[in-house]
Amino acid sequence: MIHFVNARIFDGSGAAPFAGEVLVKENRIAAVVHAGGAPLPRDNAMVVDGAGATLMPGMTEAHAHLSWPSSVERFVPGMSLPAEDLLLNTARNARILLDHGFTSAYSAGALGKTLEVSLKAHIDSGGMPGPRLLPSSIEREPPNETAFLDGGSVAEHGKGPDAVRAFIKDCAASGARIVKFLLSGESALKPGASMQILYTEEEVRAAGEQARESKVWLTGHAHAAEAIKMGLRNGFRVLYHCTYADAEAIDMLVERRHEIFVGPTLGIVQATLDATPPPHFDMSHMKADAEVVLEWQRKLGPILKKAGVRLVPGGDYGFPFNPNGRNARDLELFVRYLGYTPTEALVAATKLGGEIMGMENELGQIKPGFLADLLLVSGDPTQNVADLQSKDNLRAIMKDGKFHKAPTGRG
Ligand SMILES: [Zn+2]
Repeated sequence: MIHFVNARIFDGSGAAPFAGEVLVKENRIAAVVHAGGAPLPRDNAMVVDGAGATLMPGMTEAHAHLSWPSSVERFVPGMSLPAEDLLLNTARNARILLDHGFTSAYSAGALGKTLEVSLKAHIDSGGMPGPRLLPSSIEREPPNETAFLDGGSVAEHGKGPDAVRAFIKDCAASGARIVKFLLSGESALKPGASMQILYTEEEVRAAGEQARESKVWLTGHAHAAEAIKMGLRNGFRVLYHCTYADAEAIDMLVERRHEIFVGPTLGIVQATLDATPPPHFDMSHMKADAEVVLEWQRKLGPILKKAGVRLVPGGDYGFPFNPNGRNARDLELFVRYLGYTPTEALVAATKLGGEIMGMENELGQIKPGFLADLLLVSGDPTQNVADLQSKDNLRAIMKDGKFHKAPTGRG
């Protein structure tokens, strides 16, 4: 048993933090008491003094690319690595996310067909550190050496509804829980592509039907309004970007707000604007596109938030200028650009994180019976979410009742 005492508790629900104690038994939260209530007995428990720190649920990265190569520990110019290096580097990135407070990751695509399925098995069996992982299929082909990522091409599958069905069946048989489609392209990588619809309605309908039958979830990369609508009509569960949503797309998102999650993916946008590339790498087009995207997101985000659409942080980390490990920055960007309070951004990363993981009844909040995924954070992230961006501020990281990082500092 582990007994957190004297902590400021942010429970993930959105309620104000309160002073209190939390008892963890095996891998679950056994009790939560407010200060002033009857204190929990301390015998037989390891006591962790949370003095001066905030105890909060672990965060969920909702747009995870563990196989995108770059991290805060390792800069990789480009997106390609030799196969063996790619596998090890992906496992390393899983550990890096956990080191930075992300105890869950919803994959937005992998650079290998069964890479994340295998990684998840190693993590879940206790052999490797990493977040709870919902593994995805391959998103699109690894690119050639010159491109960051070829946003115009997708993982190998033929054209037409039957080919799409076969692709989903194959992904499901390989153990993927999520299949990702680029419903529209990506202008940051190929000018104009964000407005291009890459699939026909028949193909997307077939995807929706097969996904239901194969019991996998569909995720869509969708900038264009029509791509958003296509995804919504056909049962996509997560849509990234949604940049150019028109009035009809917004209405559809609002109508389906209990089924859909939207990932604005601000991290990559901000990183593109901030990047100072080497002279041989011209990012001027990408920067111009990022400016336009950000302008649209700043208008759209507050509208969706107000209407109760679930926006989730996660920002395409893993590119050379937007490395894995910097993921918590998305929370600050929700506050800076989308009209979120720090508390609302934290709820999006914790409670909504539990929801996008499909574990809303046991993950993402500090409640009796919930899984013990906890962070002990120096400072008060409900005042300043940027506190979460330095891993040195994470005094303890617990996943499934076990310390990944044992308590440091006082207590
Ligand atoms: Zn992505």
